[in-house]
Amino acid sequence: MNRLVVANWKMNMTGTQAFAFLDDFLAQPLPDGIDVAIAPPFTAIAQVGYRLRGSGIALAGQDMYWEQSGAFTGEISPPMLTDAGCTYVILGHSERRQYFGETDEGVNRKVRAALANGLTPIVCVGETGAERDAGEALARVIAQTRAALDGLGRDGASKVVMAYEPLWAIGTGKNCDADDADATMGAIRASVDGLQNVRILYGGSVKVENVAAYARKPNINGGLVGGASLDPAAFTALIRAVTQGT
Ligand code: PEP
Repeated sequence: MNRLVVANWKMNMTGTQAFAFLDDFLAQPLPDGIDVAIAPPFTAIAQVGYRLRGSGIALAGQDMYWEQSGAFTGEISPPMLTDAGCTYVILGHSERRQYFGETDEGVNRKVRAALANGLTPIVCVGETGAERDAGEALARVIAQTRAALDGLGRDGASKVVMAYEPLWAIGTGKNCDADDADATMGAIRASVDGLQNVRILYGGSVKVENVAAYARKPNINGGLVGGASLDPAAFTALIRAVTQGT
């Protein structure tokens, strides 16, 4: 199975800035045997999707609503993402859970809607620093995983990508030790029937300097990258380091 590296641009990049990024990024040769996706903000997603056609780089949404269409001001539907060229959608990111009231139940509805529309959900789970200090990290991520995949069955669960993103590591520069992350991700893999062969990504202050250590671990199949995906040279170097680490 190819490793997968996903750029989560979050609330960064105007359309103009995204085009400047792609001018540089698409000019760089990338190694074979690795899958790459970019998740731009919604205002740039159609433009970026257009530029990525034929490039081999996939497009991802950063979130979506579970309904197909209707009176849901401000929301984005699964068909809007597929029409823009998305094949992936990030769901349950900790920033959505923390700042925008995303619940486990909502994540589950979104995961079902993504699969029903042919999108691969990238389902994010992770514990807070306080939960980790209290020895509750594993229980927390397993509960989030089971809730997000509730009712999918083995077949549905086998179609997702999981992302383990400890909250205390996101955007802080304090990345999780690779052995610790691998053990937690192994537990995520074992927690639901159907997850045994899916890709599980690590996210949280991934950089070119630390990514190879993750890539060598058996339960880590790529990365979800925030800050280090905003610069084309840094992101290209990171992708190359993933394949060098394996
Ligand atoms: C993220 O938010 O998905 C993330 C991993 O961010 P960063 O790489 O900046 O820690």
